[in-house]
Amino acid sequence: MRRPLIAGNWKMHFTVPEGLEYALRLRHDLEAFATLVELVILPPAVMLWEIANALRGCPVEVGAQNASWEDQGPFTGEISPKMLAGWCHHLLIGHSERRQLFNETDEQLNRKLQAAFRHNLKVILALGETLEEHDLGRTEEVITRQLSAALYGIDVKRAIDLTLAYEPVWAIGTGRAATPEYADETMGMIRNLLAGKFGQLASEIRILYGGSVNPANARSLMEKPEIDGALVGGASLKAADFTAIVQATAEVVQSARA
Ligand code: PEP
Repeated sequence: MRRPLIAGNWKMHFTVPEGLEYALRLRHDLEAFATLVELVILPPAVMLWEIANALRGCPVEVGAQNASWEDQGPFTGEISPKMLAGWCHHLLIGHSERRQLFNETDEQLNRKLQAAFRHNLKVILALGETLEEHDLGRTEEVITRQLSAALYGIDVKRAIDLTLAYEPVWAIGTGRAATPEYADETMGMIRNLLAGKFGQLASEIRILYGGSVNPANARSLMEKPEIDGALVGGASLKAADFTAIVQATAEVVQSARA
């Protein structure tokens, strides 16, 4: 069993003092699970440095929700992977909100991935089909395109720094999570694609599920063999819910070991 990872995507929520207070609460609540589950929070960029400092030395790691493919220059409003290097552990790339609302293309996401790896950030690469693509039976085609474009030119050695997040767009923020069976099957297909690119190393790459994960469905999702954790949006904003998801994941690990 791969060590599961639970990542909380805070999106554009909390003021800086609220975010800091919340991160400290999570540090307190989640520390007990950290030997079993890898823990990542993705706060908004404006509070990332402060939260990273507050969590220094604690097993809850921080990541950025987005970054440019450039290192520096006249790119108003952007932050660069070079700015994150050395203190921020992870970078989320390719979230469907970035793809849809900010028109990020596969080619741009590939450049972001290359830039992130250049600065030794670990990457969570999100991909998944829209409802229309799902209903048209195009899921495999869409994911194949997203994955091969994002990974174009990426060295095999980088596989260890890569985590994928399969997020069917129709499940994000809708309360309509994919069934564990559907997610597991689709993620098995994704792992086959990874094997085509990375060979045996594909079996070490974690694939998270994302889309309306909550305390009630977390366990049945995490029990599936291809699901190596979760990218959590809405439920990551409430300490009790996020902690319950982490706890359910830790319990699955414990029963697998028993
Ligand atoms: C997300 O935004 O990545 C996400 C999975 O959101 P939610 O958990 O709210 O569906």
